[in-house]
Amino acid sequence: MTAFWTEPDFDEHERVELIHDRKSGLTAIIALHSTHLGPGAGGTRFWHYAEPKAAMRDALRLSRGMSYKNAMAGLPMGGGKAVILAGEDRTKTPEMLAAFGDAVDALGGKYVTAEDVGISEADMAAVAKRTKFVSGLPNDDADEAGGDPGPFTAMGIYHGIKAAVQYKLGKDSVEGVHVAVQGTGSVGGGVAKLLAHDGAKLTLSDIDEKRAEALAKELGAQTVHADAIMSTPCDVFSPNALGAILDDEGIGRLDCAIVAGGANNQLARAGHGPMLAARGILYAPDYVINAGGIISVTMEYLCRCGEGNCDINEVRRRIAQIPGRLVEIWEESERSGISSDQVADRMAQKLIGR
Ligand code: NAD
Repeated sequence: MTAFWTEPDFDEHERVELIHDRKSGLTAIIALHSTHLGPGAGGTRFWHYAEPKAAMRDALRLSRGMSYKNAMAGLPMGGGKAVILAGEDRTKTPEMLAAFGDAVDALGGKYVTAEDVGISEADMAAVAKRTKFVSGLPNDDADEAGGDPGPFTAMGIYHGIKAAVQYKLGKDSVEGVHVAVQGTGSVGGGVAKLLAHDGAKLTLSDIDEKRAEALAKELGAQTVHADAIMSTPCDVFSPNALGAILDDEGIGRLDCAIVAGGANNQLARAGHGPMLAARGILYAPDYVINAGGIISVTMEYLCRCGEGNCDINEVRRRIAQIPGRLVEIWEESERSGISSDQVADRMAQKLIGR
């Protein structure tokens, strides 16, 4: 692996930790982008990467995204992210999670972790046995912040899609609006359920076809093969799987008016935001629309530290501010002629002092 500061995705990251624990076999990266507004907060991804370079790229990009996301959500947190490099067999053992917990603890609170792709609530509970700098822990009290952030992320995206439909299509409801959902996991599945409740027309897709089909059956939706979802004619394309799907080829295939979904780092390169705008597609910047989970996780963490409001209604109140922020970005984008992703980046950079 080359030095992280020579990577193209290096953006003045404050610190990048490379972890290898011989005993458990854990290999991980913890990237801290900025602690300007508070401890670097962001989830842990468990993923098999074809090469370590791809894991470093993910850690650098995702942690920067967290700095921007936390700042734009008005949270007193900086940006960080961890990736655990899974082996080809994707084995995850209690010993690996314990070693990961020790690595987080060694940073002394500069990094606060939570779930991301491939990491469950139970995994986080295992990590929490070794460090207190953890959030997104199982929560039995429905009146308090906490638990799996996925449903809160989904709630924010649902509000964001409604705002986009209002802004671009002039409709007050998503009833009959066709949404193509890529990825039907924790976030995509939650978004689909909320939209189905409002009468949206849904096309679902997942590389785990059984997962998509089971949800489609429950919601009365259609499914398409994973390769076909981006070219499905629809009003809203909602990416809720992995990042970098909006590249030259992906954008060329889109047949929609709006892109609004929860996947992190949807734009493959900076130039892809303007490319969407040039095609007349309204884009909801990913880290603004998908902040619901980090809002929940942060409120839970601050509450446990005795510094925040534990009430679930405070989480809901903050998530309900996401549409207003999106509209502010879209209006500024229209006024300035600068694409919405770049408007959001400028706002976020200002907030983190860059
Ligand atoms: P998840 O693991 O629960 O679900 C992801 C789903 O996407 C899986 O069902 C997987 O099979 C599917 N998938 C993977 N590649 C695909 C492809 N090419 N086409 C179609 N489906 C594919 O993960 P999640 O928690 O739902 O997260 C989804 C995305 O949202 C990720 O990018 C994540 O970083 C982002 N995100 C999640 C949260 C959260 O609170 N969980 C918060 C913010 C952002």
